Amino acid sequence: MINRVIARVQKLFKRKPKRGGREPKRIPASEHRINHELVSRSALRVCETLQKAGHRAYIVGGAVRDLLLDIAPKDFDIATDATPEQIKSHFRRAFIIGRRFKLVHVMFGQETIEVSTFRALVNIDRVIDEHGRVLSDNLYGEQNEDSARRDFTINALYYDPTTGDVLDYHDGVKDIRARRLRMIGEPTDRYREDPVRMLRAVRFAAKLGFAIDEATREPIHRMAELIENVPPARLFDEMLKLLTSGHSVACITRLRAEGLHHGLLPLLDVILEQPAGERFVMLALSRTDERVRAGKSISPGFLFATLLWNDVLVKWTARLAKNEHRIPALNLAIDETIDAQTEKLAIQRRFVADMREIWGLQPRFERRTGRSPFRLAEHLRFRAGYDFLLLRTAADEIPLALGDWWTRFAQASPEEREQMILDAAQESGPASTAGKRRRRPRRRGEKAQQASPET
Ligand code: ATP
Ligand code: MG
Repeated sequence: MINRVIARVQKLFKRKPKRGGREPKRIPASEHRINHELVSRSALRVCETLQKAGHRAYIVGGAVRDLLLDIAPKDFDIATDATPEQIKSHFRRAFIIGRRFKLVHVMFGQETIEVSTFRALVNIDRVIDEHGRVLSDNLYGEQNEDSARRDFTINALYYDPTTGDVLDYHDGVKDIRARRLRMIGEPTDRYREDPVRMLRAVRFAAKLGFAIDEATREPIHRMAELIENVPPARLFDEMLKLLTSGHSVACITRLRAEGLHHGLLPLLDVILEQPAGERFVMLALSRTDERVRAGKSISPGFLFATLLWNDVLVKWTARLAKNEHRIPALNLAIDETIDAQTEKLAIQRRFVADMREIWGLQPRFERRTGRSPFRLAEHLRFRAGYDFLLLRTAADEIPLALGDWWTRFAQASPEEREQMILDAAQESGPASTAGKRRRRPRRRGEKAQQASPET
């Protein structure tokens, strides 16, 4: 009963959507000068097909932002007034995804165009019965409402590839020209609604080299702890986007500046506060950035393995100091690191498996006797383990000579490899021991005790 009254009152006082109430600016092609060549043929086709069927359809979000900056967008999203069922009916390979709010994936070869129906600003038409059950919930809305739900002004632009017009409800084009990131609506409200927007602010600012508008930036350090309420899987997705943006070094630097790094990668706090760890992480991130910018693929498992390596190393060393056996100690250190990490940021299982393998291979690179190097070189993950090893040498964690040895070994003929192993056994210099101390000769059958976690 009481709920019914509340629902009635809510309907009576139904606010006019504040953020999206205005008419958009219409910016013609002659003014915005988007390079039409950068627009995906498939996105164009989706818009044209929907428009021919009497709907409105626009390219939206990041793609328009990138087009205005003359950057080739990595993917295209489309917003329309057609319902998901209507959208689906116009394309041969189209799939409705999502349960409550449905989207349509329209596929053209390898390319997927995500098409969504304009969303309502808030569920103001939500009507509940006396038990609180939702009777109707108007998810779909007007274009102005859809624009007001978006995060930043530069992400709320609509481009009609047929007429060439850009529709701008929140002065996004002006902000793009001023290279400024500005939240739509009241920033504190928007961060409370979705704390991930704080991370997005940092990511876009770093990636685009934009300044964050003061009103948008100022609340972040105060509200940073809200990130803790975000489900770990969502946080992982966002972190991955951030780390693979091609600007991860800038992103991490900015996260720290805004006080956002705590609690994200819980161990990142610790790592970044230790010079050795920081060096390794920053090196790994800048290598990743180079790869992304060169259009090469990157492996998230490898990336997270680098981010958390120092923590493994610290834990491993502590166990060795207590005279634990080398390999079991490493495995326990790995378990501890992973457990502590996954509480907050759920790294996907398959990536965790990669991380374990890359870490687990590290001691094997120091064993250069008998058949070990041959077996290691044949290992399925040799390449990843070797790349990781090189990173460790570059960060001065282990001697350069060990990395060089493996580089040569990987390219050598079987005969040369045999000789290299003999040579390695002869020399008890720094390359073979990874440490500076001379060791007593090893007795047969004695386990190798390398020095890497001690350095
Ligand atoms: P990217 O280049 O990283 O893909 P993007 O802007 O396209 O950037 P997406 O995560 O693909 O980012 O989201 C597409 C659009 O959806 C955004 O441009 C924005 O309009 C809207 N959006 C995404 N996430 C949010 C959010 N958390 N809050 C509000 N709007 C969002
Ligand atoms: Mg996108």
